[in-house]
Amino acid sequence: MHFHVITLFPEICETYTNSSILGRAQKTEKGKGAKHRGKKISVTYYNPRGYTKDKHHKVDMRPYGGGPGMVMMAEPILKAWEKAVGRKKDHKRVKTLIMSPRGKKFDTAMAKKLAEKYDHLVLISGRYEGIDSRVKKILKAEEVSVGDYVLTGGELPALTIIDSVSRQVPGVLGTFESLEEERVSSGEMYTRPEGLEYKKKKYKVPSVLMKGNHAEIERFKLSQNKK
Ligand code: SAH
Repeated sequence: MHFHVITLFPEICETYTNSSILGRAQKTEKGKGAKHRGKKISVTYYNPRGYTKDKHHKVDMRPYGGGPGMVMMAEPILKAWEKAVGRKKDHKRVKTLIMSPRGKKFDTAMAKKLAEKYDHLVLISGRYEGIDSRVKKILKAEEVSVGDYVLTGGELPALTIIDSVSRQVPGVLGTFESLEEERVSSGEMYTRPEGLEYKKKKYKVPSVLMKGNHAEIERFKLSQNKK
């Protein structure tokens, strides 16, 4: 899966996608017996500012018809998109998403579908008042929202989608982690030490988890989920 992120602030996102599981998924695995050796994902950033013609590298202008704030201009975004996937031949495997608080609500079902149906996801991240509406029309893009709140930019939504879709790509998660959505996962979880002391009070791990009776542990986890 190739992610192409169009953003005015690539440096905000890069640290996140280069760390931990997403960072590992962009590298070739060396270890013996690694099941999925190749790179599982790639993430590339395109800054619309690099696709401007004027010497001030302007990317936003006042809205037609009045109103507050600035609107991101279409052309630098369209050029960045061209650079990202313009030459891809199989356009059925390319999907363009525009981050927008008015878009379709993102969820796990959407993440699964995106991971299965596409090889290239272009995520367009807005700033200021948003993006010239012609971008959506020209690129036949879909607007996606990560929740009913308004953020100052589309970077966190784009990262949320990259993270969640990547988890659905085979080999990105380790075997243990990959089971998570399929198995009974407990709401509460514990690790060492067994007896934790904090401000003179003792906090113990539920004893059922310490006994190794797997049937009982499953029952405990199920009862946790009902709460
Ligand atoms: N006044 C604008 C607010 C734009 S917020 C409006 O009502 O639409 C600036 C940018 O942040 C948007 O272009 C979008 O890319 C991003 N954004 C903000 N909240 C978001 C959300 N809940 N989901 C996805 N993107 C969001």
